[in-house]
Amino acid sequence: MLEKVLIANRGEIALRILRACKELDIKTVAVHSKVDAALKHVKLADEAICIGPNPSPQSYLNVPAIISAMEITGATGVHPGYGFLAENADFAEQVEKSGFVFIGPTADTIRIMGDKVAAIKAMKAAGVPTVPGSDGPLTENEEQLRQTAQRIGYPVIIKAAAGGGGRGMRVVESEDNLINSVTITKTEAAAAFGDGTVYMEKFLQNPRHVEVQVLADGQGRAIHLGDRDCSLQRRHQKVLEEAPAPGIPEDARQAVFDSCVNACVQINYRGAGTFEFLYEDGRFYFIEMNTRVQVEHPVSEMITGVDIVKEQLLIASGLPLSFQQEDISFRGHAFECRINAEDSVNFMPQPGTIEAYHAPGGNGIRVDSHIYNGYTVPPNYDSLIGKVITYGRDRDTALSRMRIALDEMVIEGIKTNIALQEDLVRDEAFKKGGVNIHYLEKKLGL
Ligand code: ADP
Repeated sequence: MLEKVLIANRGEIALRILRACKELDIKTVAVHSKVDAALKHVKLADEAICIGPNPSPQSYLNVPAIISAMEITGATGVHPGYGFLAENADFAEQVEKSGFVFIGPTADTIRIMGDKVAAIKAMKAAGVPTVPGSDGPLTENEEQLRQTAQRIGYPVIIKAAAGGGGRGMRVVESEDNLINSVTITKTEAAAAFGDGTVYMEKFLQNPRHVEVQVLADGQGRAIHLGDRDCSLQRRHQKVLEEAPAPGIPEDARQAVFDSCVNACVQINYRGAGTFEFLYEDGRFYFIEMNTRVQVEHPVSEMITGVDIVKEQLLIASGLPLSFQQEDISFRGHAFECRINAEDSVNFMPQPGTIEAYHAPGGNGIRVDSHIYNGYTVPPNYDSLIGKVITYGRDRDTALSRMRIALDEMVIEGIKTNIALQEDLVRDEAFKKGGVNIHYLEKKLGL
């Protein structure tokens, strides 16, 4: 069993990891930037070390400082959370080379999944349904490009192999701007990601975003924890998620679950992971795999009773998965609303001091948040300040609990997106279920 875990993150996920460690009697080390000394998990951890100034390149992305902190404190493992170094293969490699445990997949797996061309190839080979596309990087040959696009059928999307965060993509409606778009995307990708490799996919017009949560032990065993619908997005950022994804035929879901589990076994995946799909007209299309715990993991926890972060720690301790697929039963429905310190109208981040905070509570309500009365949200990081998660025996119950929870929640002193979330959970189309990835932006008039 891991004895002492360094939490290489901040905010709500750092607190989430700390709680899971405590449940397993694992000692904890918090590392933080100067401004983050007041974070809740820093105060609750067994040890805390300031690893640098506020800008994340000098603190949460500062690999030598994090490895030194592990050496000084005698931490045996590091949990990267999400964001920051969570999907940095070089970091995972350096951690393992230094004799510590990286709580996540191997550096090789992270590297493959970080290259979308390689990831799609691996997934296709493992039987996961993918988007019709170029099946590899695009060449400079203009005639070949035209033929590829014609075979796929317009509209197509040109995507950077090293892209992330919704950047490095361009939709092409017709042959007229194909060559130009490929050239621009290549140049942009080279500048933004240091890798100009691009590939082509069919552009799906009105898909939903449906993803599958998996757990695998790197010893040949893998299971899935069902799906999540994360279609409510603004600028490719998820806003509100739910599990299970509503209204998907059972045979299509089972087939995609099976393909994800098989793929994990085939690539000998280790840890928690998410297969992201676009879902349109009854079919799933793989777009990428995330090799970390996700912000929206709690909705899967609520409907399965599995603690995903605890499982990550157990797997990293070298233990085989303690349950099989048959042991997982799916019950009820869960929603998650992301609470951001941002303006509800123009979405500008709103750092500042929280002057009053009242968390919602009651039956089926879970709040994952690091904020407290008097806490100051710094301007340096992501604006996520918490998540409200609700559970109910059916979708309507979970949704009505979310309405009540959001109405109860009070955060004063800074602006938040609670008003937007209150509006969304009352939206007629959302209440029906199954809106597509453009729905929120259209509703907002963007
Ligand atoms: P990133 O790693 O930047 O998040 P993804 O490959 O996950 O990139 O794509 C991000 C988003 O871009 C998707 O959630 C979807 O909204 C849109 N997108 C990507 N590929 C396609 C496609 N083939 N058709 C339609 N939309 C797409």
